[in-house]
Amino acid sequence: MSEGCDGNSARLNVAAFLENSAIYGPGNRFVIWFQGCSLRCEGCWNKELWPFEDNLLFTPCDILEKIRETKGIEGVTFLGGEPLDQAENLLILAKMLKSDGYSIMLYTGYAEPEISGTVKEDVFSMSDIVVSGRYVEGLRSVYLKWRGSLNQNISFNSDIYRDFEDSIDKRENDVEIHIDETGEITIAGYPEPDDLEAILYGKDSQ
Ligand code: SF4
Repeated sequence: MSEGCDGNSARLNVAAFLENSAIYGPGNRFVIWFQGCSLRCEGCWNKELWPFEDNLLFTPCDILEKIRETKGIEGVTFLGGEPLDQAENLLILAKMLKSDGYSIMLYTGYAEPEISGTVKEDVFSMSDIVVSGRYVEGLRSVYLKWRGSLNQNISFNSDIYRDFEDSIDKRENDVEIHIDETGEITIAGYPEPDDLEAILYGKDSQ
Protein backbone atom coordinates (compact mmCIF):
# COMPACT_ATOMS: atom_id res chain seq x y z
CA MET A 1 0.00 0.00 0.00
CA SER A 2 1.27 3.50 -0.78
CA GLU A 3 2.49 5.65 2.06
CA GLY A 4 -0.32 7.99 3.03
CA CYS A 5 -3.04 5.82 1.48
CA ASP A 6 -5.81 4.78 3.81
CA GLY A 7 -6.57 1.56 1.95
CA ASN A 8 -9.99 2.77 0.86
CA SER A 9 -11.44 0.22 -1.55
CA ALA A 10 -13.34 2.79 -3.63
CA ARG A 11 -12.89 2.34 -7.36
CA LEU A 12 -12.51 4.95 -10.06
CA ASN A 13 -13.54 4.07 -13.60
CA VAL A 14 -10.73 5.29 -15.87
CA ALA A 15 -10.63 5.41 -19.67
CA ALA A 16 -6.97 6.33 -20.15
CA PHE A 17 -3.86 7.85 -18.63
CA LEU A 18 -1.27 10.12 -20.20
CA GLU A 19 1.69 10.11 -17.87
CA ASN A 20 3.39 13.31 -18.94
CA SER A 21 1.69 16.09 -20.86
CA ALA A 22 2.28 19.84 -21.18
CA ILE A 23 -0.97 20.83 -22.89
CA TYR A 24 -3.66 20.09 -20.28
CA GLY A 25 -2.78 22.80 -17.80
CA PRO A 26 0.39 24.40 -16.42
CA GLY A 27 3.68 22.50 -16.36
CA ASN A 28 4.13 18.77 -16.79
CA ARG A 29 0.98 16.98 -15.75
CA PHE A 30 -0.30 13.46 -15.25
CA VAL A 31 -3.59 13.32 -17.15
CA ILE A 32 -6.52 11.03 -16.35
CA TRP A 33 -9.56 10.56 -18.62
CA PHE A 34 -12.49 9.18 -16.63
CA GLN A 35 -15.02 6.81 -18.14
CA GLY A 36 -18.68 7.84 -18.20
CA CYS A 37 -20.51 11.11 -18.83
CA SER A 38 -24.17 11.90 -18.15
CA LEU A 39 -24.13 15.32 -19.82
CA ARG A 40 -24.02 14.33 -23.51
CA CYS A 41 -23.15 17.64 -25.15
CA GLU A 42 -23.98 17.86 -28.83
CA GLY A 43 -20.77 17.68 -30.87
CA CYS A 44 -18.78 16.03 -28.07
CA TRP A 45 -15.38 14.77 -29.23
CA ASN A 46 -15.27 11.96 -26.68
CA LYS A 47 -18.51 10.02 -27.17
CA GLU A 48 -16.71 6.74 -26.56
CA LEU A 49 -16.31 7.98 -22.97
CA TRP A 50 -20.06 8.42 -22.39
CA PRO A 51 -20.95 4.83 -21.29
CA PHE A 52 -20.57 4.01 -17.61
CA GLU A 53 -19.61 0.39 -18.21
CA ASP A 54 -16.48 -0.61 -16.31
CA ASN A 55 -13.34 0.20 -18.24
CA LEU A 56 -10.13 0.37 -16.16
CA LEU A 57 -10.91 0.19 -12.44
CA PHE A 58 -8.38 1.58 -9.99
CA THR A 59 -8.46 2.50 -6.32
CA PRO A 60 -7.35 6.03 -5.48
CA CYS A 61 -4.22 4.47 -3.94
CA ASP A 62 -3.43 2.64 -7.21
CA ILE A 63 -3.63 5.93 -9.10
CA LEU A 64 -1.59 7.82 -6.53
CA GLU A 65 1.10 5.16 -6.81
CA LYS A 66 1.25 5.58 -10.61
CA ILE A 67 1.58 9.33 -10.25
CA ARG A 68 4.31 9.06 -7.64
CA GLU A 69 6.26 6.75 -9.97
CA THR A 70 6.19 9.33 -12.76
CA LYS A 71 9.13 11.72 -12.55
CA GLY A 72 8.85 15.48 -13.00
CA ILE A 73 5.09 15.83 -12.51
CA GLU A 74 3.85 19.04 -10.89
CA GLY A 75 0.18 18.29 -11.06
CA VAL A 76 -2.68 16.12 -12.19
CA THR A 77 -5.44 16.91 -14.68
CA PHE A 78 -8.88 15.28 -14.55
CA LEU A 79 -10.64 14.98 -17.91
CA GLY A 80 -13.53 12.96 -19.27
CA GLY A 81 -15.99 11.73 -19.79
CA GLU A 82 -17.24 13.63 -16.80
CA PRO A 83 -14.93 13.39 -13.78
CA LEU A 84 -17.58 14.77 -11.43
CA ASP A 85 -19.95 11.91 -12.24
CA GLN A 86 -17.57 9.95 -9.95
CA ALA A 87 -17.26 12.76 -7.44
CA GLU A 88 -17.37 10.76 -4.20
CA ASN A 89 -14.42 8.56 -5.12
CA LEU A 90 -12.66 11.36 -6.97
CA LEU A 91 -12.73 13.44 -3.79
CA ILE A 92 -10.73 10.70 -2.05
CA LEU A 93 -8.09 10.86 -4.77
CA ALA A 94 -8.09 14.66 -4.80
CA LYS A 95 -7.40 14.80 -1.06
CA MET A 96 -4.52 12.34 -1.44
CA LEU A 97 -3.01 14.36 -4.29
CA LYS A 98 -3.24 17.60 -2.33
CA SER A 99 -1.58 16.09 0.72
CA ASP A 100 1.23 14.92 -1.59
CA GLY A 101 1.68 18.48 -2.90
CA TYR A 102 0.33 18.02 -6.44
CA SER A 103 -1.79 20.70 -8.06
CA ILE A 104 -5.13 19.70 -9.58
CA MET A 105 -6.75 20.89 -12.79
CA LEU A 106 -10.32 19.78 -13.44
CA TYR A 107 -12.30 19.77 -16.68
CA THR A 108 -16.03 19.47 -16.03
CA GLY A 109 -19.13 20.01 -18.13
CA TYR A 110 -21.03 21.12 -15.02
CA ALA A 111 -21.34 24.83 -14.35
CA GLU A 112 -20.54 25.74 -10.76
CA PRO A 113 -24.11 26.82 -9.78
CA GLU A 114 -25.49 23.41 -10.84
CA ILE A 115 -23.42 21.58 -8.23
CA SER A 116 -23.77 23.93 -5.30
CA GLY A 117 -23.82 22.11 -1.97
CA THR A 118 -22.86 18.71 -3.42
CA VAL A 119 -19.77 16.55 -3.23
CA LYS A 120 -19.14 17.60 -6.85
CA GLU A 121 -18.63 21.12 -5.55
CA ASP A 122 -16.13 19.81 -2.99
CA VAL A 123 -13.94 18.43 -5.81
CA PHE A 124 -14.46 21.65 -7.81
CA SER A 125 -13.33 23.79 -4.86
CA MET A 126 -10.31 21.63 -4.14
CA SER A 127 -9.01 21.99 -7.70
CA ASP A 128 -6.54 24.79 -8.41
CA ILE A 129 -7.91 25.43 -11.89
CA VAL A 130 -11.32 24.40 -13.22
CA VAL A 131 -12.55 24.59 -16.80
CA SER A 132 -16.32 24.34 -16.45
CA GLY A 133 -19.50 24.36 -18.49
CA ARG A 134 -20.93 22.30 -21.34
CA TYR A 135 -19.15 22.13 -24.66
CA VAL A 136 -21.31 24.07 -27.13
CA GLU A 137 -20.52 23.17 -30.71
CA GLY A 138 -21.83 26.46 -32.09
CA LEU A 139 -19.42 28.36 -29.84
CA ARG A 140 -16.38 26.22 -30.63
CA SER A 141 -13.14 28.19 -30.93
CA VAL A 142 -9.51 27.22 -31.42
CA TYR A 143 -8.40 30.60 -30.09
CA LEU A 144 -8.94 29.72 -26.44
CA LYS A 145 -6.40 28.46 -24.00
CA TRP A 146 -7.47 25.11 -22.51
CA ARG A 147 -11.16 25.51 -23.48
CA GLY A 148 -13.15 24.14 -26.39
CA SER A 149 -16.03 26.62 -26.60
CA LEU A 150 -16.48 30.30 -25.79
CA ASN A 151 -19.08 29.76 -23.06
CA GLN A 152 -16.75 27.69 -20.89
CA ASN A 153 -15.37 29.33 -17.80
CA ILE A 154 -11.97 29.11 -16.13
CA SER A 155 -11.82 29.40 -12.34
CA PHE A 156 -8.58 29.93 -10.45
CA ASN A 157 -9.37 28.64 -6.99
CA SER A 158 -5.89 29.07 -5.55
CA ASP A 159 -3.12 31.59 -6.06
CA ILE A 160 -0.46 29.31 -7.49
CA TYR A 161 -1.45 29.81 -11.15
CA ARG A 162 -2.67 33.43 -11.05
CA ASP A 163 0.00 34.38 -13.63
CA PHE A 164 -1.93 32.42 -16.25
CA GLU A 165 -5.01 34.61 -15.95
CA ASP A 166 -3.39 37.39 -17.99
CA SER A 167 -2.59 35.19 -21.00
CA ILE A 168 -5.72 33.11 -20.90
CA ASP A 169 -7.35 34.64 -23.99
CA LYS A 170 -4.36 34.34 -26.30
CA ARG A 171 -4.47 31.68 -29.02
CA GLU A 172 -3.16 28.42 -27.58
CA ASN A 173 -4.34 25.54 -29.73
CA ASP A 174 -1.68 23.17 -28.41
CA VAL A 175 -1.13 19.70 -29.81
CA GLU A 176 1.18 17.01 -28.53
CA ILE A 177 2.52 13.92 -30.28
CA HIS A 178 3.47 10.94 -28.13
CA ILE A 179 5.39 7.97 -29.50
CA ASP A 180 5.61 4.96 -27.19
CA GLU A 181 8.29 2.28 -27.07
CA THR A 182 6.38 0.19 -29.65
CA GLY A 183 6.27 3.10 -32.10
CA GLU A 184 2.56 3.74 -31.59
CA ILE A 185 1.71 7.39 -32.14
CA THR A 186 -0.89 9.21 -30.04
CA ILE A 187 -1.97 12.78 -30.76
CA ALA A 188 -3.25 14.74 -27.74
CA GLY A 189 -5.27 17.90 -28.13
CA TYR A 190 -7.60 18.95 -30.90
CA PRO A 191 -5.70 19.99 -34.05
CA GLU A 192 -7.56 21.56 -36.93
CA PRO A 193 -7.64 19.16 -39.93
CA ASP A 194 -5.10 21.28 -41.86
CA ASP A 195 -2.79 21.39 -38.85
CA LEU A 196 -3.07 17.63 -38.44
CA GLU A 197 -2.06 17.13 -42.09
CA ALA A 198 0.91 19.43 -41.57
CA ILE A 199 1.95 17.51 -38.45
CA LEU A 200 1.63 14.10 -40.07
CA TYR A 201 2.90 14.82 -43.57
CA GLY A 202 4.98 17.96 -43.16
CA LYS A 203 2.76 19.98 -45.54
CA ASP A 204 2.38 23.71 -45.21
CA SER A 205 -1.12 24.20 -43.82
CA GLN A 206 -1.44 27.85 -44.97
S1 SF4 B 1 -19.17 17.01 -20.62
FE1 SF4 B 1 -17.36 16.60 -21.93
S2 SF4 B 1 -17.38 14.37 -22.26
FE2 SF4 B 1 -19.40 14.93 -21.49
S3 SF4 B 1 -20.62 15.22 -23.35
FE3 SF4 B 1 -19.84 17.24 -22.76
S4 SF4 B 1 -17.92 17.48 -23.93
FE4 SF4 B 1 -18.47 15.28 -23.96
